[in-house]
Amino acid sequence: MTSVRSTSSGRPARRWLLESEIERLIAELRAADVRDERVLDAVCAVPRECFVSCEQRPEAWENRPLPIGEGQTISQPLVVARMCALLNLRGDERVLDVGTGSGYHAAVLASLSAWVWSIERHESLSALAGRQLRAAGIANVTLRLGDGAAGLPDEAPFDVISVGAAAGSGVPAALETQLAPGGKLIVPVGHETQHLVLVCRGLDGVTLERRRLERVRFVPLR
Ligand code: SAH
Repeated sequence: MTSVRSTSSGRPARRWLLESEIERLIAELRAADVRDERVLDAVCAVPRECFVSCEQRPEAWENRPLPIGEGQTISQPLVVARMCALLNLRGDERVLDVGTGSGYHAAVLASLSAWVWSIERHESLSALAGRQLRAAGIANVTLRLGDGAAGLPDEAPFDVISVGAAAGSGVPAALETQLAPGGKLIVPVGHETQHLVLVCRGLDGVTLERRRLERVRFVPLR
């Protein structure tokens, strides 16, 4: 992709067709009340077409999940944007992303923070995500294989933990434990009916505040 000019928003332009698709998605996110410009810039900057198969490239910038193999899907841009906005990232955070999938959500988080560790249980998906992240030019993501519900104790604590699969029986305790003072955890919780839950650890490192937010639909955390 070549960068030949800037859009009125100052974002680098790509091919005009792609650019119009990107602008349409951003307009959709704004209409859905995503107002954080840093998040919108990150969604613009991460080439979503690098995280889907060749056949799906024409649909890459549509605001919906798409199949990525192993019965899993790449997250919907609106959900990624909403979750990132709730986390209010400043750029210097250590982030844990649970459920690498295609690597797309990790890539958006990586462009808003210092470093992302992303954990996935399917080896084939993790390997593909690694290639896709490289193709997208994202260099601040470390991929790990394993059970994301257990977190990543050897890299903890994290300033931010973002979970891309629904925890059926409540917020995983291990993830709360691995949250740094002042840290935030966002996780979909539930089975048929799921809600996003935002957990904030107090600066004292002890208190935890849990808030149940909007309804969502994610694949289950196994
Ligand atoms: N956010 C990803 C998609 C997430 S789909 C993207 O943008 O592409 C949810 C992912 O979580 C799937 O890849 C699934 O294999 C993974 N997953 C489910 N349970 C898991 C667990 N316990 N540990 C690690 N990964 C898990």
